[in-house]
This record gives sequence, structure tokens and C-alpha cells, in this order.
Amino acid sequence: MSTQDSQIHSYERDPYLRDLQVDIIRIGEEDGRPFAVLDDTILYPEGGGQPADHGWLDEVRIVDVQRVEQTIRHYLESPLPAGPARLSLDWERRYDHMQQHTAQHVLTAIAADRFGWQTTSFHLGERSCDIEVDAAALSETDLRALEEATMETIQAGLPVGGRRVSPEEYAQLDVRTRGLPEGHCGDIRLVEVQGTDLNTCGGTHVRSTAEIGSIKLLRTEPMRGGTRLHWVAAGRVRRRLAEHESRTDALRGLFETSAEELVSAATTRLDELKDAMRRMRAFESSLIDQAAEGLAARGDGVVEAHFKGMDGAFLQKIARRFADSAGSRIALLTAASDKGNFFVLAAGEDCPIDVGVAGPELAEILGGRGGGSGQFFQGKAGSLEKRGAALAFLQEQLV
Ligand SMILES: [Zn+2]
Repeated sequence: MSTQDSQIHSYERDPYLRDLQVDIIRIGEEDGRPFAVLDDTILYPEGGGQPADHGWLDEVRIVDVQRVEQTIRHYLESPLPAGPARLSLDWERRYDHMQQHTAQHVLTAIAADRFGWQTTSFHLGERSCDIEVDAAALSETDLRALEEATMETIQAGLPVGGRRVSPEEYAQLDVRTRGLPEGHCGDIRLVEVQGTDLNTCGGTHVRSTAEIGSIKLLRTEPMRGGTRLHWVAAGRVRRRLAEHESRTDALRGLFETSAEELVSAATTRLDELKDAMRRMRAFESSLIDQAAEGLAARGDGVVEAHFKGMDGAFLQKIARRFADSAGSRIALLTAASDKGNFFVLAAGEDCPIDVGVAGPELAEILGGRGGGSGQFFQGKAGSLEKRGAALAFLQEQLV
């Protein structure tokens, strides 16, 4: 059998086929990834917005499938020799892709026929899918109507089928398409959702729209002058609902309220938090003023203060306030909290101590590290046990 592009592979003939006896006709390696080319395949190579299938060749995992130079490469977790092998499909992944992909045909057809929105791109993601439509903004009412109309088509259980037509027949048909690839020759594959959509497509589809089960439009975002529309279909709807339920349960536990009251409870708590933060900042500001004034009222030379439960940022604010009116004095400020031990050295403009020289020595006494420039030096201390020795060291610098 030929392995050329014109070959109709088994995934196209029967997308429900999960196992196939094949021949590995060529093996190779691409950027360290071993791959196999087979005489036929039930695995879909990435294309047209649909991701590559996964599966197994004998016991070896197939992690990617791509069309390369008119052949289909099955990328393997470990190399295999040429010869006969059993090919099996990761059916759960593929069936989900078939459902999402067929849902996209229906959604795109209804968006175009009932609302005049043309689909310009399709993306089948890990968790959700999206299409881009050429409408600048979609109203909530229109979106609800689109979802309803799509659901009606899904529930109608319309047959879905693929076939190949000659270029001559293709020219006679009213096909919805974004255009054939440049240089296309030979038969063209069409996919039809009865009475709803006739489209050029090489992907895999379910037999009936009933197999999609349901679709849920999630949200929209503006995109390049159009709109990106996010949605989920089939089993993803229930999976997503289960995630929402479990998240809502966790939030209900945290806020001790019902699901219906969650948003208002969260809003109230956030308002309370903002208010508390505002009061805390005002309190901190007056504490800084008091501390700086207290230091300024002390005697000459070296002054000091320690703050429990505070951090380096707090000390720096006091240091700046202190330094403005410190004159020839120098202050050693320390703080200890669960974030660690902090120190700041702050000198007045007329202080004879060179902070840039004394700072690193002071940091060494405190078993820590730090940095600074001009009138300030700050850092983290290993411990504050040697705080007395650090003060004595500063006194010595003044003699
Ligand atoms: Zn398709």
C-alpha cells in the first residue's frame, strides 16, 4: 500500500477503529525523538485545529503524530524495530476530540447561518475550545440564542459523515470552507452535518450530533477586531461542572455561607479587609512618627530602638524620618518577626561615622549581611544576641 499523501488512512475510513495490525515500514529519529512510519494508521496527525492522537505501538507509547514530507510520523517514547506491530489508539482522548471537533462544525454553521458571524479560526485546547468570529461584539442575548440553537441541533441527532469528491463535483457544491491549501490537487474531503453544514475537513467526527451530548458557551474576549468565543462540549461540560462544584464547596466552607451568597460574602470581606488595611497604615504611620520623635528626643551620639513583630521596610521608614533631624547622631534600629531579624543603621548629616564603612562591620557582628549608601545601611541579622556588642562598636567609632 502506498504511504503517499493521497492514501486514505484508516482513521479517515473509520474514526471508531481502536486497534489495527500494521507494518512498521520505516524507522527514524528526529531531534532525538524516535519515530515510526506505518503502512496504515488509525491515529490522526495534528491538523485543522484538531490535536494529534496518542496511542501505543505494541507496548510503546506514541506521544505525537505529525505529517512530515507526505508521510505520517508516529513519535515514540522508545525506539522499535521495523516489522509487524499492533497499533492501538488512546480512545478516550480521541473520542473527546471527535466530540469537540464535531461540536465546532455545528457551532460554526449556526453562528454563520443564523447570526451572520463567520468563523475565522478554531482551537481545540486541553481544557476548553475556542472559535474566533468576525463580529466585534456579541450581546448576552445573542450568545444565549446561539447556545440554544446549537443545543437543538445537537439534540436532533443529525447524521454526520465524510466523503471524498472530485474537483469537478466540488465546484458544483455549495461548500462552506476557509479555502483549500495552495497547490491542492486530487480529491477533496468533505464533511457533512445533515442539513446544517457541508465543509472541507480532514479531521475525525462522531456519527451523530447526539454523541456530542451538550455544549456550553463560557465567555468571550475581543480579538483582532473580532471576538474569541470559549466553549466546552460533551464530557468536558460535566467535568467542568464537577470542578466548579468542588471549588464552590471549598469557598462555601471558607466563607461559611451558601453558594448563592458567596459573591456578596466575598465582597463584604474584601471591603472589611480594605478598611482594616487603611486603618493599619494610618496606625503604622503614627507609630513611625512617634518612634522617630522618641529617638530624636534622646541624647547625643548613638541612639537605638527595637521593634517586635516588625520588618525591615518598617525600620527604613523610621530611619528616613529620624535622619532628617538627626544632626550628628546615629541610630541602630532592629526588629524581629517571623520573617527574620532586621537592622538599619541611620546617620544624621553631621554624623562623623562613615556608614558605608561601619555598616558591613556591624553586619558581621550581627552575623548577617546588608547594603546601603549615603546615610543608611540595612540588612538581615543572623541573630540579635550581639546587639549590645554592635552598639558598643558604634560608640567606639565616635571616640
Ligand atoms: Zn471537521
